[in-house]
Amino acid sequence: MSTLRITGGKVFDPANNVNGVVRDVCIQDGRVVADVAGGRTIDATGMIVFPGGVDVHTHVAGAALNFARAMIPEDHRRHEPFVRTATRRGGIGGATPTTFVTGYLYSGLGYTTVNEAAVPILSARHTHEELRDTPMVDKACCVLMANNEIFLDLLEAGEMERARDVVAWNIWAAKAYGVKAVNPGGVTAWKTGKDAKALNDPIPGYSKVTPRTIIAALANIVDALGLPHPVHLHCNNLGAPGNVTTTLETMKLLEDNRAHIAHLQYHAYGGDDWFTMRSESVRIAEEFNRRKNLTCDAGAVLFGDTVTITADGPWQHLLYKLTGRKWGNLDVENETGCGVVPYVYKEKNLVNAVQWAVGLELMLLIDDPWRVFLTTDHPNGAAFWRYPEILQLLMSAEFRREELKKLAPKALSRIFLPELTREYTLFEVAILTSAGPARALGLTQKGQLGLGADGDVAIFEEDKDVAKMFAYPRYVIKGGQIVIEEGEVRATVEGRSLHVQPKYDPKIEEYIRPLFQQYYTIAFDNYPVEIERLEHPMIQPCVPSA
Ligand SMILES: [Zn+2]
Repeated sequence: MSTLRITGGKVFDPANNVNGVVRDVCIQDGRVVADVAGGRTIDATGMIVFPGGVDVHTHVAGAALNFARAMIPEDHRRHEPFVRTATRRGGIGGATPTTFVTGYLYSGLGYTTVNEAAVPILSARHTHEELRDTPMVDKACCVLMANNEIFLDLLEAGEMERARDVVAWNIWAAKAYGVKAVNPGGVTAWKTGKDAKALNDPIPGYSKVTPRTIIAALANIVDALGLPHPVHLHCNNLGAPGNVTTTLETMKLLEDNRAHIAHLQYHAYGGDDWFTMRSESVRIAEEFNRRKNLTCDAGAVLFGDTVTITADGPWQHLLYKLTGRKWGNLDVENETGCGVVPYVYKEKNLVNAVQWAVGLELMLLIDDPWRVFLTTDHPNGAAFWRYPEILQLLMSAEFRREELKKLAPKALSRIFLPELTREYTLFEVAILTSAGPARALGLTQKGQLGLGADGDVAIFEEDKDVAKMFAYPRYVIKGGQIVIEEGEVRATVEGRSLHVQPKYDPKIEEYIRPLFQQYYTIAFDNYPVEIERLEHPMIQPCVPSA
């Protein structure tokens, strides 16, 4: 296998408290080691060395992505296609890059691990096929559980032990890494044309199940199973003016659990309607700062064209009503929904201006960089390949002041961004993009460059223009192999598939099978994804609580 020495670079390795120290990083057989003899040496003098980036929340594979791609032909025309070369395949880029191009683009930013945040069990097989076709990065995925009717029926019946076994069985059947809850109960309600915006809202067809009971049950189950990543929650009432109340109540509900709150930006709004919508990032950040059991990702927004994709069916219907754009909607049998709406974030639009500011405000106001991570909820807020633009905004208050001038003056009274002077340091950026998300995912071998860590490294030419610096890493190393060099794909590596295998009573299959045969369009035996189908599977340990 490979032997590599990176010498002369300023190393930023926050997990090991290394802050810009010039030192060698040595990699042998895919792992960081103390020293190597021979092999290739990279002279990284004048460069900065980061652990490979880790995206805690993105949407890159599965049926919803194909649905979205089909709905935005204009986006494919806007972006140059990726032509095939000796080292890489062709494909399309833009808001929803195709699988291979997704791998190249992530790698081209220095990212080496991604978490596909929303997989219905029913299409897990398809998702894994596409993740196999996404090279260059290691991949995890979270399975959607908060509107699964087999699970909700068990909550209604008070059968908590069986509910836990159903969740654990589903995780393993989907070959997932974590559990995602999207608009708990609201997507089920949507199937009768309703939603569940507040924690105590009723869910049609149930008398005891509410968003509150679903969130509490899933958080408890995930903690009891000892999954390395806590429940990954897309709160109720996403996107709506005044939803700050729901978000604060949800944080309180979770106070005895670990939890990751996804795309917090979309859940931090005040005001009574679209005309009075304003930022509530200060209240959200104050509460979040106190609650050390929580992590979150930003779900930041950038101005421009994109496409929104979410399991939150009722929200997507509302967005369609508001914009009059194309709208796609899927009912994923007994598990979840899905909606797709192409969207443009505009600087002069007051709602969009608030959204843009809130994402940045949260990253600047949450004081512990180990608990807030860079995402755009790709592609919902912007495509992931625009992350360097966000880093520039976080690292320069002066650049933010310039950008603020582009907003309608009316927007300024609804946001806090003009008052914020904090500027991210390189050390903090390394936490925000790598060390923090790796820790939140429980991926101890990622997001760090200590002995035994995965040999995933990003090397950037130090530059005052940080947007340029982070957009074009000089070298990217995946598992000890140089995959990107001077902006070119030098080698295509497959990447690994990350999983957990929580314990469950095998008899639970006897319970699920007849329900499945009765209600699903796929036969029970065709449903679980076989481990043989996965690319270099790696099972992370679970540590169940007593
Ligand atoms: Zn998402």
